[in-house]
Amino acid sequence: MEPSGKPSTVQIVVLATSSALTAIFYSIYRSRSKTVTRLKEAKKVSIDQDLKTLLSETPGRCVPYAVIEGVVRSVKDTLSSQFVDNCKGVIERLTLKEEKMVWNRTTHLWNSTEKVIHQRTNTVPFDLGSHDERLTTTVRVIRPLDAAELDLETTYENFHPTIQSLSSVIGHFISGERPKGIHESEEMLRVGDSVTGVGELVLDNNLLKLQPPKQGFSYFLTRQDYESLLRKQLAGVRLWRILFIVFGVAACSTLLFVTWKRYMHHRQSRKKRSMMEEFKEQQRRRMRELQMEEGSVSPSSCTVCLSQERSCVFLECGHVCACIQCYHSLPAPKKCPICRSAIDRMVPLYHS
Ligand SMILES: [Zn+2]
Ligand SMILES: [Zn+2]
Repeated sequence: MEPSGKPSTVQIVVLATSSALTAIFYSIYRSRSKTVTRLKEAKKVSIDQDLKTLLSETPGRCVPYAVIEGVVRSVKDTLSSQFVDNCKGVIERLTLKEEKMVWNRTTHLWNSTEKVIHQRTNTVPFDLGSHDERLTTTVRVIRPLDAAELDLETTYENFHPTIQSLSSVIGHFISGERPKGIHESEEMLRVGDSVTGVGELVLDNNLLKLQPPKQGFSYFLTRQDYESLLRKQLAGVRLWRILFIVFGVAACSTLLFVTWKRYMHHRQSRKKRSMMEEFKEQQRRRMRELQMEEGSVSPSSCTVCLSQERSCVFLECGHVCACIQCYHSLPAPKKCPICRSAIDRMVPLYHS
């Protein structure tokens, strides 16, 4: 806090940052909790013979937000794993990640970081079918890569460490970057995997389709069941709520603190002003008693008796405003006549 009572730069920065973060976290929390509410309200549909009839009777032949659980079935082609025999899927993602240690100049520690240097995702059209193989009703999954929570199964991973010579090690210490190696992985959505899809369900020319829903709704495709998906989303909501509450409390307390300090400063300066007024009034009364003109009082004369020279300093306030006799005649506990703070000590002044 500055002497003027204005908030310091640090306080303004803290207040602005915490307010901004509160607003950001709150909006994330709101959107996440909306997602959860919509997920809870989504219509649960099971893949059976009646599904087509149900949709043909629904207005627009569409359920805007539906949950379906089913088994991945290929339509025509399948993708074969490049590393595992007899492993067939409908989505295959190959990733190459570079892992390295980077020297942090602030913490003086080597931190492990990774960077995706190459990623390729292949897909083929696929359906979700009933767990019961006799049922032929299937739902085509449209644009599966647009889905959030698309957790694929890791079918292969390998790490190729970087071979290091002595000279390269010295070079790495100088540059502050030490490569560890390349991480290679293959992830797949396999034929026969159980999948939960949440999206728009439409009947289009006798073909049932699950597709990304209209704006504001999230498209989910996950190997978890509906309950686990809901639990995971709820945990996310809780985290954002905690964050926004913590930062909200920080912003409010900073604001309260700054306002309180300003109010205290304002009150103190008002008190000082009124004390000064009172003192002047007393002085005028004393001058009237002594029948003196305002101009005839010397600026160095004692402010209490107006006749003798000021001859002592009051500590801790430091005011030189009275003579020693007037100091002694001040009522106990002795207070400075100018600022009203307690006089701990009096030091006589000697002019030479
Ligand atoms: Zn005096
Ligand atoms: Zn004083």
